[in-house]
Amino acid sequence: MPKSRSWGFPRWGGYGSETRPKTQRLCDREGCTAPGIHPAPKARQSDDKWWFCREHAAEYNRSWDYFAGMSYEDMRREAEEAAADYAATSAYAYAAPTLSREERRAYAILDLETTATVAEIKSRYRQLAKRYHPDANRGDATAADKFHELQHAYEVLTQKMDAARRA
Ligand SMILES: [Zn+2]
Repeated sequence: MPKSRSWGFPRWGGYGSETRPKTQRLCDREGCTAPGIHPAPKARQSDDKWWFCREHAAEYNRSWDYFAGMSYEDMRREAEEAAADYAATSAYAYAAPTLSREERRAYAILDLETTATVAEIKSRYRQLAKRYHPDANRGDATAADKFHELQHAYEVLTQKMDAARRA
C-alpha cells in the first residue's frame, strides 16, 4: 500500500480474513492495521465518525480544527448564543424573568451583567463603540459588524430603560 498523508476512506476490517468470526473495524488512517476503537466526528455536529486507533485518534484530534469551514457569522452566532444561554441560566436571570432573549443578548454583547446600571451600560457602550468604530478600523468588516451589533444592543437596552422609567 502506498504511503499517503491523506486520510483514506473508512475501511471495514477483514483484509482477506474471512475466517474471522466477526468483522473487526480497523483504524481509518490509511495504512494502519490497528483496531479502530476511538470514534472521532468527521465534521462539526456530524454523527458520521471515523474510527481510529489510539495513536491516530490523538493525531486526528491535534490536527482537527473545530471551526474549520465555519463562517465568521456562524462563530459569532454560536458565541453569542452560548453567552445568552449562560445569562439566561444565571441566578439573576431567574430573579428577573421579564428579560427578553434579545435583552439578554444585548447584555452579553456589551459584556455586562443583567444587573448593570444605566451609567454602566452607557460607559461600556462608549468604550466598545470607540474600539470598534469604523473610523478606527478602516476596511475591517468584522469590526464594522461588531460596531453595528453594539449599536443595536445599546438601543435595545436604552429602550428597555426608558420603558421602565415610564412604567
Ligand atoms: Zn491507526
